Amino acid sequence: MIFDLEIYSPVQQIKHLLFDEKGLQVFIKRDDMIHPVISGNKWRKLKYTLANAHNAGKTHLITFGGAYSNHLLATAAAAAKFGFKSTGFVRGEEVTNDTLFLCTLHGMQLIFVDRESYRDKQALFDQHFSNDASAYFIDEGGASAAAAQGCSELVAELLQTYDHLFCACGTGTTAAGILNGLQHLQTLFHAVPVLKQGEFIVDEIKQYTTHNPMYELHTQYHFGGYAKTTPELIDFIKQFIASTGILIEPVYTGKMMYALFDLARKNYFKPGSSILAVHTGGLIGLLGMKEKFFI
Ligand SMILES: *Cc1c(COP(=O)(O)O)cnc(C)c1O
Repeated sequence: MIFDLEIYSPVQQIKHLLFDEKGLQVFIKRDDMIHPVISGNKWRKLKYTLANAHNAGKTHLITFGGAYSNHLLATAAAAAKFGFKSTGFVRGEEVTNDTLFLCTLHGMQLIFVDRESYRDKQALFDQHFSNDASAYFIDEGGASAAAAQGCSELVAELLQTYDHLFCACGTGTTAAGILNGLQHLQTLFHAVPVLKQGEFIVDEIKQYTTHNPMYELHTQYHFGGYAKTTPELIDFIKQFIASTGILIEPVYTGKMMYALFDLARKNYFKPGSSILAVHTGGLIGLLGMKEKFFI
C-alpha cells in the first residue's frame, strides 16, 4: 500500500520513585518516535486523509495552522514523503521559526493571512485554489473522521490491556479515535485538555466516536491556556526529562504528564494499577520555547 506510514512506536516503562511508592506501573507509548519531526498523533491523523486525497486523484495538499502548528509540519513532511505538493495558510503576520523553517524545507509553500481572513478557511481555499483541480482541503489540525480512524489504530498495537490510558487533547480528535479503539477493552481513558475551558472537547469526542464512551476529563491542567506555562510546569518538565531521558514539551505532553503525576501523588489510582501515557510528540516546538526554561 502506498500510504504505509511505517508506524513503529514502542511502549516503555517509566521508572520513578513516586510510582514505586504508590504501587503503580506506568508506561509510555512513544508516538514521538514514529518520525523525527512529525508529532506522532499528527502522523496518525493524516494517514487516511492522504489515502482519500490520493484516491480522489488530488496531488496538492492545502492546510491551515498557527505559526507553531505541529499539523502544518506534519502535512509538509508527509506531502514530501508521498509525492504531494503542499501549501500551508499560516495565521498572523509573517514570521520565521523552527517549525516554519522545516515546513519550507519540506517544500511547503506558506501563505500568511491575517487573523480575520484566517477564520474562513473554505473562503481562503476557494479564493486561491478554485481553479486548481489537484488541490485537496485538509482542515486545521487535520480534524476529521478519517483522522480519528487513524488514531484508533494505536490501540491495536498494544500488547497488553492497561487500567488507565492518558492523552493530551487539543481538539479532541485523537482522544475520540483512541476511545473508538478502546471500545471493547476495560481501560479507562483520561483526556487532558491543554486549552482553557477544555469541556468543549466533549462535543468533539461525541462527533467522532461511534459509541457512547466513558472517560475521565481532567480540565484543571491547562496552566493558563494553550501554550501557556507556569514555573511549576517548567520545573516538572525539567525534572521529568532529567530523570527519565524522555523529552516532553510544555504545550501538550508536559501538561498530560503533569496531570498523571499529580493524580498519582493524590492517590487517585488504586495500587497495582497499570497506566499508559501516550507521547503524542510535538518536540520541534520545544526548541521555540527555550526562554521559558530560563525564568
Ligand atoms: C495536535 C497535538 C495534540 C492534540 O491532538 P488533538 O487531536 O487536536 O486533540 C496532542 N499532542 C501533540 C504533541 C500535538 O501536536
